[in-house]
Amino acid sequence: MDFSVDSETRQLIEQTRELGENEFRPAGIEADRRGGPIPVGDLFFDRCIARGDGRTRWTGPGGRRAADRPKRTVVASLLVAEELAYWDRGVINSTPGPGLPEGNVLGMGTDEQKERFLGPFLEPDKPRWACFGMTEPGAGSDAAAIRTLAKKDGDGWILNGAKCFIGSASRSDWILVQATVDPSKGRAAQRAYFVDKDTPGLGGFKIERKMGLKAYESTSFTLDNVRVPASHLLGGEERYQSSAGFKTAMKTFNAGRPQIAANAVGMARSALDESIRFAREHDMLGDDRTRDRIEAISRKVRKARMVCLKAGWLADLERPNIIEASMSKAIAAQIAQEATTLGLELVGTVGGRGDHLIEKLYRDVKAMDIVEGTGQIQRMIIARTLVGLPR
Ligand SMILES: Cc1cc2nc3c(=O)[nH]c(=O)nc-3n(C[C@H](O)[C@H](O)[C@H](O)COP(=O)(O)OP(=O)(O)OC[C@H]3O[C@@H](n4cnc5c(N)ncnc54)[C@H](O)[C@@H]3O)c2cc1C
Repeated sequence: MDFSVDSETRQLIEQTRELGENEFRPAGIEADRRGGPIPVGDLFFDRCIARGDGRTRWTGPGGRRAADRPKRTVVASLLVAEELAYWDRGVINSTPGPGLPEGNVLGMGTDEQKERFLGPFLEPDKPRWACFGMTEPGAGSDAAAIRTLAKKDGDGWILNGAKCFIGSASRSDWILVQATVDPSKGRAAQRAYFVDKDTPGLGGFKIERKMGLKAYESTSFTLDNVRVPASHLLGGEERYQSSAGFKTAMKTFNAGRPQIAANAVGMARSALDESIRFAREHDMLGDDRTRDRIEAISRKVRKARMVCLKAGWLADLERPNIIEASMSKAIAAQIAQEATTLGLELVGTVGGRGDHLIEKLYRDVKAMDIVEGTGQIQRMIIARTLVGLPR
């Protein structure tokens, strides 16, 4: 296996480190203390845009922008994702951009949809967000059970339902809403619709209270007779003759699993460094028990990183990686939780005060086990794949 990266990626990781230390970590700690997301108008987001963040991977009409977009390997993107989350996973999720649904639009959107919905992210004039609404109060792990209903109305659609825990929903220019045209027909009946912000009937935005990752919003909202034109059906009607709608939605999550794993590795590494720093400052490195915990965290972090990079390496070779992708997420999220637990044990009563970085990491890291398929769901996917059952 070869995990080497080019000098440009190494430079990017170095820049990320600097930015992380000076911007991301302080912003994350501030949001955590405030107990809510970084406000939309915060200058932090203007600085992101000025740096060139928040742009789409879409190369523009006719691929005109392809030349100035360096193609990064999956391994390189995982190393960058690890470094970003090392400094603050909540803050990196708060940053503007087309976010989670971008992959769906690139993979399945029509040319007009790419232009209309990704075009504003080519050279964003201001911080802009987009988001993907799949989860509902009654449908999380079992995404095939969603009940948000899409009903044909003339040449458009009427949407009714409710979504929850959707990242950046209240500040998004548009939401890609997953809905069903017939709840009795399962996955094959699912479609995705672009819903512009300010569309009548879209509302009830409520930012959820979270135990961690407070820098970005996770929001519930309702769709009450929301009317969208036919052109807002992702990919157009002809794409939905099979279960393509559901499959495309799940692709978003499949591709994201090693990225979440890399985030978890970064957070576990952060817990390791904080544990060593604390032990050194408090003259604890001579204690066998302290060193034992440091060794355990370090060993686990290395294991998680190996599995995660293997998933990326296989993806770069365009070889099947479904088992490794799920394994990386199941293992790295679990290990990151163990690492922060061991770190909390090491700092002792200081951890219980609620103002130490390890305590924040302990709360932040649980979401890595939940988002984009919980640990149990990853293990189910691995087991079904191993015995040749459909996932
Ligand atoms: C911070 C955060 C951000 C999120 N962002 C988004 C977002 O942007 N967009 C979006 O659409 N969703 C988002 N979600 C929702 C997330 O995808 C769901 O929380 C997740 O899919 C789990 O669903 P659930 O919480 O309803 O748990 P449930 O599905 O109710 O599961 C509860 C428990 O049962 C276990 N379980 C479920 N089924 C099985 C089974 N068959 N076998 C064994 N165990 C099982 C689960 O692993 C879990 O431990 C976010 C969630 C969080 C916490």
